[in-house]
Amino acid sequence: MRRDYYAVLGVASTAGLREVRQAYRHLARQYSPDVNFWDAQARDLFDEIEEAYRVLSDPAARAMYDRFGHALRDGEALAAGRRGEDVHATVQLAFADVVRGTSLRLEVARFSPCAACGATGVAGDARCPACGGRGVRRAVDPVSVTIPAGVDSGSQIRVPGEGSAGPFGGPRGDLLISTRVQEHPLFGRKGDSVHCEVPISVWEAILGARIRVPTPLGEAALVVPPGTTGGQVFRLRGQGLPKLSGEGIGDLYVTVRVEIPTGLDARTHDLVRELERLIPLAPRTALERYRGGAA
Ligand SMILES: [Zn+2]
Repeated sequence: MRRDYYAVLGVASTAGLREVRQAYRHLARQYSPDVNFWDAQARDLFDEIEEAYRVLSDPAARAMYDRFGHALRDGEALAAGRRGEDVHATVQLAFADVVRGTSLRLEVARFSPCAACGATGVAGDARCPACGGRGVRRAVDPVSVTIPAGVDSGSQIRVPGEGSAGPFGGPRGDLLISTRVQEHPLFGRKGDSVHCEVPISVWEAILGARIRVPTPLGEAALVVPPGTTGGQVFRLRGQGLPKLSGEGIGDLYVTVRVEIPTGLDARTHDLVRELERLIPLAPRTALERYRGGAA
């Protein structure tokens, strides 16, 4: 049989916080386990004093206790008015969403104030049957969220005050959104840096060219200098992705791939042979010294 918390502390139900605290300090000293180490009864009494004090010194918990007394389940009074839990959600984003940022409407499963009892947990004179007396009910609510530009897979966005409502009218926790970004067929990324491969013709590689290359935000000009080789990387400053901090844009790295004509007819084949005679090349001279594995 649990004793009334006011009786445990020996105070009137009208006692102020100061009086409650004084009574607690006095009793706690008297029944402290430090003093009464071998006395199991004193320890039980001490636990009872602690519990009574925790509830009666907390205005929200005390109000709950005054209303329901020991009909409350363990910890329920102390949960009164507490902030709700954070709620986690994961969203899938397209690459385009990352470039400009986006707004989404998410269906969030969370606890919300019980409408049947106005979040009080009481309907008439009894526990609210709709929420079991907790003042909150599980529901799926639409929540509008803004995803900033520059998020990556594994980024976490905190939306304050959109998590679960606390029991008995407590404020909401936060909504924590983890993002997953889909792969793009052309653009790879590392943070705010973007990588892509762009083909150029062998003629452009030899002669140089001014070409248009796709960028996350549109396109940009790239000057391919004469004598460019396949695999060469060009950096286009500020053509990558926006930084998540909102300050600045990363770079775009373009790797060129040289396309070689195939299926030559007899005439063009002879022309290339002629070129070979005009421009003799010995590209593997530097490798000679490694022949046979010798260093
Ligand atoms: Zn209710």
